[in-house]
Amino acid sequence: MDEELPLPSPDLPVVQDMQIAIASKLADITRQKAEGRPVVWCSVLTPKEILFSMDVASLCGNVLGAYASIFGMSAKYCQLAEDDGIARDVCSVNRCTIGVCCTDDREGFFETAFAPPDLVIGSTFPCTAEAKTFLHVAKKYNVPYYVIDVPINTWGDDPPKHAIDYMASQLKGMIDFLRAHGYAFDMDNLKEEVAFARRLNLLMQEIDLLKQAVPHPIRAFDTVIAMTAPLALSKAGRQIELFERLRDELKARVDKGFGVVEEEKLRLLWCGLCPLYDFKLLNYPEKYGAVVVKSMLEFLVGFTCDPETLDPEKPLESMARAQLLSPANPPYRGAVDYFVRAARDYKVDGIVGPVMRSCGLVPGMQRLVKDAVARELGIPTILVDLDGGDQREYDRAGLCSHLDAFIETLLARKGRR
Ligand code: SF4
Repeated sequence: MDEELPLPSPDLPVVQDMQIAIASKLADITRQKAEGRPVVWCSVLTPKEILFSMDVASLCGNVLGAYASIFGMSAKYCQLAEDDGIARDVCSVNRCTIGVCCTDDREGFFETAFAPPDLVIGSTFPCTAEAKTFLHVAKKYNVPYYVIDVPINTWGDDPPKHAIDYMASQLKGMIDFLRAHGYAFDMDNLKEEVAFARRLNLLMQEIDLLKQAVPHPIRAFDTVIAMTAPLALSKAGRQIELFERLRDELKARVDKGFGVVEEEKLRLLWCGLCPLYDFKLLNYPEKYGAVVVKSMLEFLVGFTCDPETLDPEKPLESMARAQLLSPANPPYRGAVDYFVRAARDYKVDGIVGPVMRSCGLVPGMQRLVKDAVARELGIPTILVDLDGGDQREYDRAGLCSHLDAFIETLLARKGRR
């Protein structure tokens, strides 16, 4: 039965509940639209603290694009975007988003998860493809828009005051844009949201430590859902208790010495976009006793704020600092440090680096990660071609043969030691 589903089934009970809650948040939007509430199109990475504090009914356009790919419809929706003038070289997830937005011929799932925008909020984070996609949507529906301009972090661990002030002004611009269109803003509500984000991030740090256990206690797809949940759940669904359950269920597994593969032989890090239309590939290495212990989807869409940067009494300034310091913010120093640290902390044996031709951000970083991890930890990486969003470019058999060869080499290498 599982073979017929487009996705693996989560096996941790709390993650099953998270998956259901994420799906129901998607369906909420048509109800909210029917109630007469304006729909704000934004990105999954648009600051939730502002959206929640102002009670905005939001639809994450790039999540719809991702679902188009997850449900095996990327060929249709990428083609629709290309017919609308978007080059095939543009990020395939964003092409899917534009395709879903620009047609009236959507499947049943999108009938409940899609609502046309009344306002659009784009962002240059993590890449300009995101900003351009949201501009395309705003133009198509002829609605007002605001773009958050996130500067790349050229300053390192301690961004100067002028950079933080600029980023804070961009966030304030988002608030002003929403106020100009009828939303009320209350600074105390924003402080509460930032305090919540700090609490949740501290909990996520505990969870990250548990995930580092040997043997690895959680399957790769469960991790994708669990790490996406803080960004993809509704305000009502994003409860601290849900993440405490995740911590406790993981801790119970770690205490029992439970591992997702019976005899764990290898630990892999997936540094690149997983194929959204074939998440089962993340479980493919398990037949060798190899487990994917961390994937880049966690890094791109996961909850990446450092709780130490969040001060509820200075909400805009601390959100600005956390945004600038996000490891996903270019250029690549933060990302390289993140993956070197992850490879060490997770006791990784090898890195799989699928290169997405249509991504303008990640491929350059992958090469630097490959070199840094080899230099600092002696861990090898395989770089393979794989467009994680556009199934028309997928060759599963070819990819698996590369994975087979890489894993067998890692096993032989480990055996020799
Ligand atoms: S980072 Fe790459 S995959 Fe992600 S939205 Fe930008 S271009 Fe697409």
